[in-house]
Amino acid sequence: MNSELAHDNAEALTRVVVIGGGYAGVMAANRLTQRDDLTVTLINPRSTFVHRIRLQQHLAGSGDAVVEYSDVLAERVRLVVDSATQIRSSGRTVTMASGESLDYDYLIYAIGSGSGRPDVPGAAEFALPIASLEEAQRARSALEAAPPDAPVTVVGGGVTGIEVASELAARGTKVTLVCGEVLNPYLHPKTRRKITKKLLALGVTLVEGPGARVARVERDSVQLSDGRALSSRVIIWAAGFGLPDLAARSGLSTDADGRLLTDETLTSVDDPRILAAGDSAAPSDLPLRMSCQAANPLGAHAADTVLRRIAGEEPAPIDIAVFFQCISLGPGAATVQLASKQDAAKRFSLGGRLGAKVKYSSFPGLIKELAHEGHEPGSYRWRFKNPKRKLQVRAKRNELLTIDPARSR
Ligand SMILES: Cc1cc2nc3c(=O)[nH]c(=O)nc-3n(C[C@H](O)[C@H](O)[C@H](O)COP(=O)(O)OP(=O)(O)OC[C@H]3O[C@@H](n4cnc5c(N)ncnc54)[C@H](O)[C@@H]3O)c2cc1C
Repeated sequence: MNSELAHDNAEALTRVVVIGGGYAGVMAANRLTQRDDLTVTLINPRSTFVHRIRLQQHLAGSGDAVVEYSDVLAERVRLVVDSATQIRSSGRTVTMASGESLDYDYLIYAIGSGSGRPDVPGAAEFALPIASLEEAQRARSALEAAPPDAPVTVVGGGVTGIEVASELAARGTKVTLVCGEVLNPYLHPKTRRKITKKLLALGVTLVEGPGARVARVERDSVQLSDGRALSSRVIIWAAGFGLPDLAARSGLSTDADGRLLTDETLTSVDDPRILAAGDSAAPSDLPLRMSCQAANPLGAHAADTVLRRIAGEEPAPIDIAVFFQCISLGPGAATVQLASKQDAAKRFSLGGRLGAKVKYSSFPGLIKELAHEGHEPGSYRWRFKNPKRKLQVRAKRNELLTIDPARSR
């Protein structure tokens, strides 16, 4: 359908608004263009796509995390550069920071995650988060302003902390990684040993154990709970992600962390016209691991649910699994922790050339998946499925029934 005709028929078209132009939102928007009789509008605060899984490279100056939307988004999707500030489900409108608002027939909530709000004294003031492009740019400027031999402390021993520490150490920065009790508790001990060895070989000083919790952050030091003080010129905060509060602010049900609570078709438990995907979705209060591995299929599934509803068909439950965790360990190196269908780390991991190939091919691979869906909507298929998710949901329901009967739906 050409755009003039589309405009004349605007009254008859179903309006789908997607909030958030990350992996999940772009995948959903592209997939929706399978139908000619709907308009797809994507709201995002920037005019460029952020390839978040490359932000550690962006920070270290070893790679770029910015991609043009023209490279990933279907031509038919209208991009509105703005931030959603309120969803009014009763009137089916989204209000934006500019004061403009958009009406919708279906809404997909895909606003992702951001940096967690640390409750450690001094952290908000002196530590630099890196969960968004702007934050990574600020941290990069601080690193560039510091002398080459200045001590840098990275707080957080999870994947992001490990990736940041190794990327910086590989370029010669003197890095201390504060892990808390143990380096990335998710990992299998065998994989943890391998990663520890690699970090030490890169020259990263690892601080872990019962006293390695950050108690206070000052302008030039990180104070640990056991009294140690780590002299630091730049302090990077990579201790977990936080969730934006748009859903809660809009009166929609969320899980305890702020993700929009949905059923297994990714439909909000409050409103059949609202769906969620990616980091900001909590299907059955059992969210998948925050990852782009989950975001792409969740985005596609949310679009499928909308398309099925429009077609008068029953939407399907999700069957998505997250089967591994890829961790980059400086340029050209990586470990891939394999996981079970329930996302528990297995004994096996991939390292060496194979691990690096899997990790580094995912950078262009994810962009290709989005672009391909933009050109051939409906073509994307996810390989990793979890037919046992039903059992997990049932178990969770029983657990909730035991804890609080009012929460069972
Ligand atoms: C340094 C780093 C490294 C990572 N490495 C990996 C990795 O190796 N593997 C992996 O699987 N995951 C990794 N992740 C996590 C991964 O990036 C996220 O899980 C993924 O981006 C989630 O995708 P999403 O589409 O849900 O959200 P996002 O990619 O966060 O996209 C959400 C979009 O919504 C926009 N938005 C937010 N609020 C609003 C609003 N109010 N209105 C409109 N738009 C809004 C945001 O600006 C953003 O563009 C990493 C993250 C970081 C920070």
